[in-house]
Amino acid sequence: MNICAIIVAAGRGTRAGYLADDALPKQFRYIAGRPVLARTIDRFATHPAIDQIVVVTHPDHRERVMGYHPDIIPCDGGHTRKASVANGLAAVPGDTTHVLIHDGARPCVPHDVIDRVVDALGSSPAAAPALAVTDALWHTENRRALAPAPRDHLARAQTPQGFEIAAIRDAHAQQIDADDDVGLAIRAGIDVTVVEGSEDNIKITGPEDFARATRILENHMDIRTGTGFDVHRFTDGDGVILCGVLIPHSARLLGHSDADVAMHAITDAIYGALADGDIGQHFPPSDPQWKGAASDIFLRHAVELAKTRGFSISNIDCTILCEEPKIGPHALAMRQNLATITGVSVERISVKATTTERLGFTGRKEGIAAQAAATLIST
Ligand code: MG
Repeated sequence: MNICAIIVAAGRGTRAGYLADDALPKQFRYIAGRPVLARTIDRFATHPAIDQIVVVTHPDHRERVMGYHPDIIPCDGGHTRKASVANGLAAVPGDTTHVLIHDGARPCVPHDVIDRVVDALGSSPAAAPALAVTDALWHTENRRALAPAPRDHLARAQTPQGFEIAAIRDAHAQQIDADDDVGLAIRAGIDVTVVEGSEDNIKITGPEDFARATRILENHMDIRTGTGFDVHRFTDGDGVILCGVLIPHSARLLGHSDADVAMHAITDAIYGALADGDIGQHFPPSDPQWKGAASDIFLRHAVELAKTRGFSISNIDCTILCEEPKIGPHALAMRQNLATITGVSVERISVKATTTERLGFTGRKEGIAAQAAATLIST
């Protein structure tokens, strides 16, 4: 099975009541510190069964969405939801066997709901999550209840709705209409298996849903902090590399790699938050291939590891301890370089420095120490 998620977010979000000329649609508003659509993408990007992600948006929002995740396939939406999904179906990679079509405004979809849809696709051409109707139902008109309506056999539809790619393409090619893709599939004669949905899998529709989604996300949020510490001694040379920035100096730092003491402390802080060893374990100094290596290799590895474990980096704080060289003039360049490597925005990365009042080995200018903290949040 090669599965591509198609996340549909081309709507203008007028029902959420925020659309003014200068306002963005609801899928770009923030919940729990991250845009709704970015959170929705995260749910699929961190799920091991998903191979590719197509995100369907209005062309005006393409660039914004590309910044949410490095590997998504952007796709322009159409005038209707059906047209947007059809565009998404045309954009999936050629080796795709199944698609999961999901509302961009459902950012809380639990991984076990995705699991159940994928499992059901093993023995069915289509599968989708739904919940039972527990409230009584009435027909109403002008605020008057007219008649009770039977709720037997009714279900509340959710997404992601999963299909064999050929089956759903065929359904979309027919002149039929429905509110969602399962509706189209049923009318096209495709057998759809229903699996258990989740009350957490809400669709953000009205303004009150933002608070509800925030509560759901925060309830399930796994927040971890790690710390790192490193020291390298000075040796003869003419510059030090700190956070990937070369700073001219009357010495260089001695080490197996480029001896970037600050980047090592940051990398170890991320490994620490994951409780997964340290740089020395992932990149043994006994291995000659890391001799003289630029330390961004280590940091990129830690960031990727965090991602595959389902975490994003919320912030990084690093303190460099030395008498010389002066760090302040280079701190912004260091933060910008770390932002480029980690994909974390520069406002969430701090680099600062202190002397140790000429005390100890740093005070005697024998070397540089660095300590760092990193906070990781489950995505
Ligand atoms: Mg080191």
